[in-house]
Amino acid sequence: MKILLATKNTGKIKEMNRIFSGSGVEFIGLDTLDHVPDVVEDGRTYHENAMKKAMTCYNVASMPTLAEDSGLEVDALGGAPGIFSARFAGEDATDRENNEKLLSLLRGIPREKRTARFVSVLCLVVDGTPHFFEGEVRGHILDHPRGESGFGYDPLFVPEGYSRTFAELGEEVKNRISHRAEAMRRLKDFLKEKLGKQ
Ligand code: IMP
Repeated sequence: MKILLATKNTGKIKEMNRIFSGSGVEFIGLDTLDHVPDVVEDGRTYHENAMKKAMTCYNVASMPTLAEDSGLEVDALGGAPGIFSARFAGEDATDRENNEKLLSLLRGIPREKRTARFVSVLCLVVDGTPHFFEGEVRGHILDHPRGESGFGYDPLFVPEGYSRTFAELGEEVKNRISHRAEAMRRLKDFLKEKLGKQ
């Protein structure tokens, strides 16, 4: 089964094909389309955004399509930045600017009140029907960045049960315990069952 991955990031496509190798599923990227639609992420939830991305590309490609939306939710900030995680410090904000904004909003807040979670929502559209798969990982936000690997808020986020940040733990550990890994496992189970029935 071929699935269109609604991302221009070729690293993501390779990673997905590694995760699903031997499963009978092959992911291809938006670069295989003649016309790549522009999608504005203006939904009010991760589900709405993921579905908008997946459905828009599905309507162009007419083949099974997968999209993801994700974010960081900090309890002391009432769940912010949430769906605005990528543009927390402004429309074209860098990861560093977003991290600095988060740290300044949390200044003076003690460790036990700095709890947070990462959320990932995948939307797979097959035959025009959306299917959702969710994952989360809980942890807390440090008061200064640590580590070099990963992206986004990784240098500030320490997952529960660990003392190092996602950026210190590295890809191998992160890809086992992350919000995205959990959502992917659910997708994999769904596809296994679906392909088993074909
Ligand atoms: P999206 O591309 O709209 O899903 O944006 C998600 C944003 O949430 C990213 O730009 C990051 O700021 C943040 N985010 C989501 N997942 C992660 C993660 O695994 N590590 C660090 N930041 C993340």
